[in-house]
Amino acid sequence: MNRREFMKTTALVAASSVMAPARKSYAKSTRRIGIQIGAVSFVDEGENQVLDNVQELAGVNTIFIPVFAYNRGLAGRGYLSGDKKFHAITPDHGNVNYSPDYFHGGYYATPHMKYYNNTPFKEHRAPELGDYDVLAAVLDETKKRGITTVAMMADNFKSHLPNSKTLMQVDMNGKRRGMVCFNSPDFQGFLMGLVEDCVRSYDIDALLWRSEKTGPLMEVLGLSHSTGKGGNAGCFCEFCKGRAKKMGIDAKRALAGYEELRTYFQNSAQGTRPVDGFYVTFWRILLNYPEILQWQRLFQESLKDTYRSINKKVRSIKPDMPTGWGFSSQQIYSHMFRANADLKSLAGFTDFMKFYIYYNVGGPRSAKYVEKLSKSIMGDVPRDQLLQFVYRLMGYGDEGGFEDLISRGYSADYVLRETRRALNGAAGTGIKIWPAIDIDLPSRFYWGQSRSYAVSSYDTIKNAVKAVFHAGSDRILLARKYSEMHLKNLKAVSDALKEIRIHPNNG
Ligand SMILES: [Zn+2]
Repeated sequence: MNRREFMKTTALVAASSVMAPARKSYAKSTRRIGIQIGAVSFVDEGENQVLDNVQELAGVNTIFIPVFAYNRGLAGRGYLSGDKKFHAITPDHGNVNYSPDYFHGGYYATPHMKYYNNTPFKEHRAPELGDYDVLAAVLDETKKRGITTVAMMADNFKSHLPNSKTLMQVDMNGKRRGMVCFNSPDFQGFLMGLVEDCVRSYDIDALLWRSEKTGPLMEVLGLSHSTGKGGNAGCFCEFCKGRAKKMGIDAKRALAGYEELRTYFQNSAQGTRPVDGFYVTFWRILLNYPEILQWQRLFQESLKDTYRSINKKVRSIKPDMPTGWGFSSQQIYSHMFRANADLKSLAGFTDFMKFYIYYNVGGPRSAKYVEKLSKSIMGDVPRDQLLQFVYRLMGYGDEGGFEDLISRGYSADYVLRETRRALNGAAGTGIKIWPAIDIDLPSRFYWGQSRSYAVSSYDTIKNAVKAVFHAGSDRILLARKYSEMHLKNLKAVSDALKEIRIHPNNG
């Protein structure tokens, strides 16, 4: 499907609902049902078996393949029950007998080295599946079946990849860390090479690049899902400083401001209350160092420029191919992150967005975030009151108390509200929204193993799928990956589609 057809889909849905009254039989649907499937699943179960399963059980007509990813969460196998870090239930299919260190990650197609002349980082082929090339293996079959294939790339890197040092960020201490810097020419050279390689070498239908980074402000406050502990931030490399200079931002003052925030964060974490309170003092630091927010904005603009570059590169090769992005899952619970995640600001270089509505793990993750907030900038507000406040800030209904949210996750009402918010946010931009729900994505054991954490069930999945379409969406993305989803739960998707009279597979 090319970009024009991709865009035309919605227009057809709108037109047909006006011209043809609903009939009792399933009308031919133009709805898109997408699912994320890692290369390892095709190796473990066979391409045809995987495609049969997702078509039959979930009515899938679009697959998102993480072709470039270093995170096991996105590209690895499912977790076994008893994993020390995650509350998981062993999947009912695929290969679950693996050693915990089987995963490496990287590019799961064949790299063509002529595209990587502008970067020192060239050893990016994922080694754990041998010569297996997932795009070469599935594209003929997906075309035959009328399935759209989206190549997915993630910006999570690992430390100590060969010759990757100059792609990486420099933190507040002047040290490199295992996160790429968008302003590094070596990273840009790699990324543009990867995109060109993938788009020229394979007949994919669309490309999704996803960054989970939140920027320095949330990092230093320990409010970033991806960088954990807090008390540090990036990037302060020479290229970011050069860019700051052009934007009129004083890098020395910015770093001094972040040092101040670091001290504030460390004292807060130890329970030391500032004389004028946690929130007031946070604001005072921002007022004294407006460069703190300017550095956050520098990050945000650099991310957007990366989107623009990818979009431009793809259009220069295949003008009709859609390109899209995905916000970090932090948009579920962080008002600070959400302020960055402005759909309108992406118009002009964005064809589609993966929009995280992870209603299961979103519960424990939100609770963890609120707990962190209650130990930093909101340290004066009791945790349970803070959670109620966050629900209101985010436009959610009452999703219960702290313990409820951890053990049950969010409701179908949350899925409905978030889908609507995304569609309204994208109105007038031409950006297609893929509301993404989580199926059997395990929660991290934030509060130990002896308590219950939200898990998907046949019923909650069915209700979530119905909520997405009731909110007016014409598509849904099943996340995070097929390998961890239970087939009995996937069946809930096609059953939901039948109940709301959408014919599975009639893309
Ligand atoms: Zn940098």
